[in-house]
This record gives sequence, structure tokens and C-alpha cells, in this order.
Amino acid sequence: MGVCVVYLGGFGRSGSTLVERVLGSVPGWVNVGELVDLARSVAPRDELCGCGRSFSSCPLWNEVGRLAFGGWSEEVLARIRSSHHASARQRHLPGLLRPRGEPSAALASLRADYSAIYRAVAEVTGARVVVDASKGPALGQALAGAPGVDLRVLNVVRDPRAVAWSWQREVLRPHDVSGTDTMWRIPARRSAAQWSALQLEMELVARAGVPSARLRYEDFVADPVGSVVAASTALGLPVVADELPGTDDGGLVLEPSHGLSGNPSRFRSGTVRLRRDDSWTTDMPAAARAVVTGLTLPLLARYGYAGARAPRPPQQRTHADVRHGLDERIAK
Ligand SMILES: [Zn+2]
Repeated sequence: MGVCVVYLGGFGRSGSTLVERVLGSVPGWVNVGELVDLARSVAPRDELCGCGRSFSSCPLWNEVGRLAFGGWSEEVLARIRSSHHASARQRHLPGLLRPRGEPSAALASLRADYSAIYRAVAEVTGARVVVDASKGPALGQALAGAPGVDLRVLNVVRDPRAVAWSWQREVLRPHDVSGTDTMWRIPARRSAAQWSALQLEMELVARAGVPSARLRYEDFVADPVGSVVAASTALGLPVVADELPGTDDGGLVLEPSHGLSGNPSRFRSGTVRLRRDDSWTTDMPAAARAVVTGLTLPLLARYGYAGARAPRPPQQRTHADVRHGLDERIAK
């Protein structure tokens, strides 16, 4: 039986954790967090699941592991790590975009393992759509060929100056039970260069034929329901507003999920307030801001971030980017 997967692609600190949880709350949809981290950190370190239990004591992930592989043995986890390393890192993207001949043994193994996990998640939860926020374009492109997987890619993009500013501030990584693991900080210049590279890769993936759409985080914050309805429609999996979590006085009412890894907002539930964080416009040093603007300029304009300060105010925004996906009407 096939399973539909919505793969969230984009740069870290772009709001994909919240987008993923909103999508996962639609009836018939389920979010699994950043599945890419399951084998490389969540299971080996027994990190916390979004439900608040450790991975090894979460009933959902136990059942998924049992169904897919007879359990999360070290052998299974090592196989997933090594096939990912050998076939779906950034450097493999050109080959994944232009495949020649049969897939390598590593790629076939990676696809089979992800397919088994997605199908087990669908079976255990009864969902027909699995939302994976793994984010990396190469992994997304690799999984587009997974057997029995109907993959769609949603590129969640956020103003790179807000992203760069966020990366300069330290955040404790709350999934780590020791409480000492902080999320990485990266300098503005590097985050800008990486953001541009990643966005260009997302566009290549969309052009290679994977059904894709783009959601600007700023549009999501301004109108979570409308922007998600538009994005899901662009992906060919339309949800209606009534299926999305209730908004309560400007907040979204979210249930806990079994999503793995991701942003600390993973662990907040109940009414979650969406707030535009525009602190980069006032607090980010001008030199750093200029560097990021300069390094990301062509794409800034393309995504409607070209204004000198912040993106268009909510009343002027349209969801055109989302509605038309990555089909480059915007490349004017
Ligand atoms: Zn859980």
C-alpha cells in the first residue's frame, strides 16, 4: 500500500517545526518531525519525542519500529546512517537530479528503509499523509524515488536576515536529556551563503519534477489557516480551513505530537502564539545585515523580501508564491 509524504524542505530556523505541527493536526495527516535525526541522534541518545517521553518509551515509535524492522536495533540504525551518508548528502544532489542507470545499493537501501518507516507510521496512526520535516533537499530528492511513496515537497522559506539573526542567538536543544546540548550558532555570512545554496537546491528539486510548493514563514504567521490551505492545494492535497487547528484570539491551539527533533517549540502545546519576530530589523548589527542582504539579494527579490527592511505588511501580502508553487512566475 502506498503512502503520501509531504517533505518539508528549507533552512534551519525557518519555522518548519510549527508548520509541520499544523499540517500534522489535519485529520488523516500525521507529522513525524525531522525523521533524518531518528537514526543519527534521537534513537542513539534516546532523546525526547514531541510527546514528552523518551524515544525508547514512546509507544508510537516502538510500534513503528516493530512493524517496519522488528525493532530499532543498532544494526537498522547503522544501516540507515550509512546509506544516508553514502547516497543522500548535499554532494549527492547533482547525481540524484540526473540519475543514470540503476540506483546504488546505498540509495536503494535508504529508500526501502524510509518507505518502511513511512508505511508503518501510516499504518499505526491510520493517517494517509505523513509530514516529514527533515529539511535537506538531497534527502528529499532521494526519497522521491522511494518505493510506494508519493512524495511532495513544501519549501518553507523565511527572510534570510531573520534566519541569520536567529542563528546568532544560542538556544538550548531541549530534546537532549542531559540538558547541555545547545543548538548550533553560525555567523551571519555563513548562514547567508548556506541559505542561498539551500534555496537554489530546493528550486532544482522542484524543477526535477517532484510536486512542490513554497510557503513563506511570514505568510504563515500572518494567516496560518489561509496560507496552509493555499500550500496544501498547491501540493495537490487540499485541506479545508475547518480541518486546521482552531485559532484562539490570535493563537493556534495545538495538541502534542510524536514529532522528533526540531525547534524547541516542539514541546509547547495548547494555545501557541504566532509572533512575527522582526528583532533583526532593530537589533541586528547593520554590517551583518548588509552582508546577509548582499549575499542573498537575487533570491530576496524573488521571494518578495527585497524591501529594505521587513517583508510586505500582512494586508498587502498575497499567497501567490504558495499558490503557484515553484513554477517561476516570480522570475520576472
Ligand atoms: Zn512520542
